[in-house]
Amino acid sequence: RKGTAVITGASSGLGLATAKALADTGKWHVIMACRNFLKAEKAARSVGMSKEDYTVMHLDLASLESVKQFVENFRRTEQPLDVLVCNAAVYQPTAKEPSFTAEGFEISVGTNHLGHFLLSRLLLDDLKKSDYPSKRMIIVGSITGNTNTLAGNVPPKANLGDLRGLASGLNGQNSSMIDGGEFDGAKAYKDSKVCNMLTMQELHRRYHEETGVTFASLYPGCIATTGLFREHIPLFRLLFPPFQKYITKGYVSEEEAGKRLAQVVSDPSLGKSGVYWSWNNNSSSFENQLSKEASDAEKAKKLWEVSEKLVGLA
Ligand code: NDP
Repeated sequence: RKGTAVITGASSGLGLATAKALADTGKWHVIMACRNFLKAEKAARSVGMSKEDYTVMHLDLASLESVKQFVENFRRTEQPLDVLVCNAAVYQPTAKEPSFTAEGFEISVGTNHLGHFLLSRLLLDDLKKSDYPSKRMIIVGSITGNTNTLAGNVPPKANLGDLRGLASGLNGQNSSMIDGGEFDGAKAYKDSKVCNMLTMQELHRRYHEETGVTFASLYPGCIATTGLFREHIPLFRLLFPPFQKYITKGYVSEEEAGKRLAQVVSDPSLGKSGVYWSWNNNSSSFENQLSKEASDAEKAKKLWEVSEKLVGLA
């Protein structure tokens, strides 16, 4: 049978390119879990995916109710779940004030981390039930976790501190930042990606042996053309792609990045659990090192426990 992969945020950028790459193999049915149904449907058609290769299902990660509803709706389809890809993200680098999810969490961490945290915890049960030979859960990370690169060291740097802002609700009353500091949209995004990478490792430690599920994260390269940068100032949007192409040489096309993530979904040679994948300039994959904070097991455990409380799992 075909594998079934759920991809969040498959209506543009990396998620769409990955959906397309998987559909093109003829071996996958992709559930595009998206907040904008019409946009996702149009996107799938625009890249030439054929009807039988995908299903669009509604998921708004900025609402925990929507996450639960998605899981129910997915279960009602009675399809197996073989791979989950947590890909969707918001990035608000120029926001002066925080905005908030339905439950009142700062939106970058609320969407990118807490929404995916609940989704992955709920869908782990479905993954366990699958009889697919290689079951995987992938959480897309970012270069923020690499200390061995220039881009990973550009300020404002991620820093979760002692998680005091998160523990106090991340709701703007006490703090809208995980470390309890002043709001900074770019930092909130980077913090959320560190949470993604810590969560992947904690899932690996808690569930890999018991379930056989492979947990992985990755940095697909700098895809300077995606919608992620839509809220940046126009001059940045103009200069960023050539800067990445010619100066840092970290640039990858959406198509290439989609192929990379599709490898993490299905390539037998990328089946190791607990790994953060990256690619060399010649497009060969390797197991990358994470920064000190993004591989801090104690912090991962604390993050897990605080996040469980916030999403109502504890
Ligand atoms: P895009 O903005 O193109 O894609 C983000 C996707 O997330 C969109 O489909 C968007 O939906 C969706 N999304 C946003 N908010 C929600 C929500 N509340 N509920 C459901 N879906 C939502 O960006 P990219 O493709 O670049 O980003 C994809 C992933 O890649 C992210 O995890 C990002 O952190 C990561 N990444 C990107 C890099 C890059 O250089 N671009 C580098 C490293 C990592 P909609 O279409 O409706 O807006």
